[in-house]
Amino acid sequence: MLINDDEFGEVIVRKSPLSRGIRFSISTSGRLQMSVPTYTSTFLAKRFLNSNREMIREKLPIKDPNEQRARDYQKKVLMKKAREFLPYRLEYFAKLYGYSYDKCRLTHAGTRWGSCSSNRTISLNIGLMKVPEQLRDYVILHELAHLNHMDHSKAFWAEVGEHDKNYKLHEKRLKMFNPGV
Ligand SMILES: [Zn+2]
Repeated sequence: MLINDDEFGEVIVRKSPLSRGIRFSISTSGRLQMSVPTYTSTFLAKRFLNSNREMIREKLPIKDPNEQRARDYQKKVLMKKAREFLPYRLEYFAKLYGYSYDKCRLTHAGTRWGSCSSNRTISLNIGLMKVPEQLRDYVILHELAHLNHMDHSKAFWAEVGEHDKNYKLHEKRLKMFNPGV
């Protein structure tokens, strides 16, 4: 869940059954993040944010809100680019190599480039629009291969290797980039 706040920009609200009270921190993307118990309503979360402004300003090194706004804008642009590209690229490779998936989902939070769920939904991180084309294609081929192998077994890598001979190199290169937007 996200709260759009005039002062802090996008605030990430993470609901967790393990969380007892409300805790503030800074997410890896530099945004303010609140961990709240599962039952917390948006209304309550906003009220908590309001009553802790002073403390947040003093204790948490939030990036300049202008910078935050610039990031939010960049995210929007990236999302638009991704929407116009990734689902089609996925479809292209699926048709080319005879894979059938159910849905393509675009993600932006999180630290993963992509994932493939057991209900055959492939998720791709919009951050892929920032990496070189071969790496982007590699991630797509990697996730497609998971449709047949839900693990990283030898058989899985053999299948990835069939469609991307340089997969080892691409996997290594990908580590130089950060999926966070
Ligand atoms: Zn994998």
